[in-house]
Amino acid sequence: MSELPLRPKDYKSTVKPVWCPGCGHFAVLNALTKALAHLGKSKEEVAMVSGIGCSSRAPAYLDSYGFHGIHGRALPLATGLKLARPDLTVLVAGGDGDGFSIGGNHFLHACRRDVDLTYVVMDNEVYGMTKGQASPTTPPDWDRSKLTPHGSGLRVFNPAAIALASGAGFIARAFSGQPNEIARMVAAGIEHPGFAFIQVLSPCPTFCPEQTGWKKVVRAFEPQPTSDPQEASQRIHLDDGFSTGIIFQSDVQPRRQPSAGVGNVEAFAEEFAL
Ligand code: SF4
Repeated sequence: MSELPLRPKDYKSTVKPVWCPGCGHFAVLNALTKALAHLGKSKEEVAMVSGIGCSSRAPAYLDSYGFHGIHGRALPLATGLKLARPDLTVLVAGGDGDGFSIGGNHFLHACRRDVDLTYVVMDNEVYGMTKGQASPTTPPDWDRSKLTPHGSGLRVFNPAAIALASGAGFIARAFSGQPNEIARMVAAGIEHPGFAFIQVLSPCPTFCPEQTGWKKVVRAFEPQPTSDPQEASQRIHLDDGFSTGIIFQSDVQPRRQPSAGVGNVEAFAEEFAL
């Protein structure tokens, strides 16, 4: 058992991140470690699950339990883990392509099932690991990819709106340039007793150098947060996607969470309509 209290750097593994210089994901990783230190978590009570992509490398960089899964399947893997080991704090990490495209269906149902997971999506509006293709959150006129030389022309996926419509009880947006804010939101998401979704605007300077300008346009939602879904919906739809903060936190008690061990997995799987 790791000795408490731990400092943020104590949660980092000895594996050096292979992210490009200037990648926003470095700050997100630092923020995750700050949140864990703030909450006084031991390494043994934390597990991080991911899918595939640059951001999905995060479990290797955290000195906790970790599982680097397959593309788009981080949430069902994490759900199974939480049902089997409800004593663990289960974090889920991934990117916009992994989470909103191939994993889109799992995103909807994770919001709806309200299992106690904290899902951090590092959203850079691009598939970085496969060298820069349009993702569900890419602006329609983004024309840097040879696959979409005139832009995709498609409406962007609105993660916060989809999460709200699918029943998520905790929805936040952060920016990698404000790591203390990310840490605050991740800590709040972990403490929220149900599914928590945190979209982090995390620039990919390699394939989208224009995203370095995000620091000039992000600002806080005022006031925040709300527990009224209608108000949250209005905020989300009137916003340009660059307002940050805890957008919505439901005051409805989340459904009963698994509290016992492996013996209850089948019963909970049935209850959670898995
Ligand atoms: Fe980060 Fe983009 Fe490099 Fe991937 S390709 S590590 S997202 S900067």
